[in-house]
Amino acid sequence: MGCLLGTPSTGAKAAAPPHLFPERWIDGTNGAEPATQVQALDADTFVIRQSIATNFEAPFLYLLFGRDKVLLIDSGAENGRIRPVVDHLIGEWLAAHKRTSIPLIVAHSHSHGDHIAGDAAFRERPDTTVVGLKPADVASFFGIGSWPDQIATYDLGGRALRILPTPGHQAAAIMVYDPRLKILISGDTLYPGRLYIPVNFLPDNRASIDRLAAFAKHHPIRAVLGAHIEMTRTPGRDYGHEALSHPDEHRLELPAGAIRELQSGLKARLDQPDQPQVHDHFIITPVPARTE
Ligand SMILES: [Zn+2]
Ligand SMILES: [Zn+2]
Repeated sequence: MGCLLGTPSTGAKAAAPPHLFPERWIDGTNGAEPATQVQALDADTFVIRQSIATNFEAPFLYLLFGRDKVLLIDSGAENGRIRPVVDHLIGEWLAAHKRTSIPLIVAHSHSHGDHIAGDAAFRERPDTTVVGLKPADVASFFGIGSWPDQIATYDLGGRALRILPTPGHQAAAIMVYDPRLKILISGDTLYPGRLYIPVNFLPDNRASIDRLAAFAKHHPIRAVLGAHIEMTRTPGRDYGHEALSHPDEHRLELPAGAIRELQSGLKARLDQPDQPQVHDHFIITPVPARTE
């Protein structure tokens, strides 16, 4: 009954985003499920989920076509077998456009293993560039002179994406804004789950979310689309660590208002590792200091 993201609780809550996906995502509750599931947002935009049966991280990946190139954001977790799916989608797109080739760029929401495990298969793919994993690699590829303060434009050809550096969860983290669909691809920095922030990166993370909130004031966002789901549909309740099925799973989409909610949540001290701050749709989770 009612909207899934509209449960009342303390603090300002934004209206729920529209339902962007026609199907339910594979969630490990149906016995045998395919290794991946693809849903289209339009004829040029595909979201791929890796089955939780192949890896408990069950990440979401994004494939965006422009006239001149196609961008894959993340290559999956271990056992993902993502490349054949991407090859198939590119093949179908080329056939629909009566073309024979389009360069593929593989970039990453950030450099954690569950987002880069498929890179090797793409490194040997023709007409493909795999972006490096360090902040300097990401900055130089996207032409970001002043990391992390500068927001770059990366044009796929008739589709000028904005690339926002968002170090905090991890040093090389970015978000990607697509003005055409008004979606923000947010990686592990904001998604319906546990937002892990090493305590030594809290200042970086706060600054990233402040910049993001300023950006969001001037750019309409229909939905924030992250890289995992770890929340149930019960407000504030997540799954256990490494759960192998997600009954009653939260939607992937978060409203733009989640950015402000995260921004204000980050104003708390949060310097005690493993003392999470629970929100209805995500859990800010400080973790011990890391090196990157
Ligand atoms: Zn991560
Ligand atoms: Zn992740």
